[in-house]
Amino acid sequence: MTMSTVLAESPIAHEADKDYHFEDSPILARQKLQESNARSYPRRLPLALKRARGIHVEDVEGRTFIDCLAGAGTMALGHNHPVVIDAIRQVLDDELPLHTLDLSTPVKDRFVQDLFAALPASFATKAKIQFTGPTGTDAVEAALKLVRMATGRSTILAFHGGYHGMSQGALSLMGNLKAKTPLGAMVSQGVQFMPFPYDYRCPFGLGGVPGVEVNLRYLRNLLNDPESGVQAPAGVILEVVQGEGGVIPAADMWLRGVREITAKAGIPLIIDEIQTGFGRTGKLFAFEHAHIVPDVVVLSKAIGGSLPLAVMVYQDWLDTWQPGAHAGTFRGNQMAMAAGSAVIRYIEEHRLVEHATSMGQRLRTQLLDLQKRVPQLGDVRGRGLMLGVEIIDPHAAPDPLGHPAANTALASRIQRECLKRGLIIEVGGRHSSVVRFLPPLIITAEQIDEVARIFAKAVTGALTGA
Ligand code: PMP
Repeated sequence: MTMSTVLAESPIAHEADKDYHFEDSPILARQKLQESNARSYPRRLPLALKRARGIHVEDVEGRTFIDCLAGAGTMALGHNHPVVIDAIRQVLDDELPLHTLDLSTPVKDRFVQDLFAALPASFATKAKIQFTGPTGTDAVEAALKLVRMATGRSTILAFHGGYHGMSQGALSLMGNLKAKTPLGAMVSQGVQFMPFPYDYRCPFGLGGVPGVEVNLRYLRNLLNDPESGVQAPAGVILEVVQGEGGVIPAADMWLRGVREITAKAGIPLIIDEIQTGFGRTGKLFAFEHAHIVPDVVVLSKAIGGSLPLAVMVYQDWLDTWQPGAHAGTFRGNQMAMAAGSAVIRYIEEHRLVEHATSMGQRLRTQLLDLQKRVPQLGDVRGRGLMLGVEIIDPHAAPDPLGHPAANTALASRIQRECLKRGLIIEVGGRHSSVVRFLPPLIITAEQIDEVARIFAKAVTGALTGA
């Protein structure tokens, strides 16, 4: 029996497995003992994984889970997709050098051609690409350097709730204070934060179109007021749908406004597509929803077909930096590029972008139905297959801004109840109160329904202990 048949046939337990104690595994015990205190996912998802195929993963105890975390949005085609495995195998069979710094190879050349063909022509015709160290964070670092060197300015505008990576440069752009505060003031130097159009908790107390209009007015004013206190920025960086910040989609109107304002002011607009890139939001690149042309796009996660790869693609007018301005040893992972090409081609040939839209809609409809019965599901939102549900306490006093109280404990219980029933979901957002769905784009309608069914039971379980 092949691995795929085994995994496909393994039943997902919809009922909570009361006798299952995740933390009992000796592997997890050793992990806890030996790995850093900074480890993160295993704390909430105490799993030792053995095999994976498609949307399923199996742990060492033989339990099967539907993986709606999917390597934090990395597995566009799910785990071990045959086209990805074939592409990797081909690299090995051809005895290609596995690692080439930034020297070129036919595999790399093809990846660049495939990526440029996938990007909108309005952006790709004058684009340049920089391969960076293989993390989203390093692509962001490269973007910071690029725009700072090209403009001769240093300030960067970033947004509340933004997440761009964990190095000290990328961290300086992060909204979440938890990782920054212990490092002191250094990590916030040169960064000015702006309100993001977070509709459910509108910073201006307005929401909708008025909230977006005021938001844009605030930005316009900041850039035009000679006494704003903020030096002319080298760049503006944003996510079209904030991921770690709590699945917060920016309105197209806002994106168009930001593009117009930054273009007029000659400020490069950096779009961080590290999580949204490659079809996740129902467009190949999320900025396409708003029909804007950014100056810089940073990409990672899905572009390596599950292997480490990151790039920055940018308009050639910014290409003023000098040879070696952003180097790094591991920029030539041939297997990741081959896998990335296979992913782009598969997404296009199988119309997975449209599929992500309809599957996202299917899941969203069921989440909205559940919301009608469960007032703790404060907001259901997202785009395509990047969805989140903000968990609130409708009985608690609102927060100081009059917004519903976040319900961190319930979000965490829901995640745990999902896990017990064979569903892996992520938790993020303000006060870790947003449960997040990032399933592989190949998920079927039946599997979406199963995810929704398990989630509904888990919510009941988390609320009632049933
Ligand atoms: N930007 C965004 C939008 C992300 O979601 C992430 C990772 N979650 C990063 C940057 C950082 O990427 P990496 O973890 O690969 O460094």
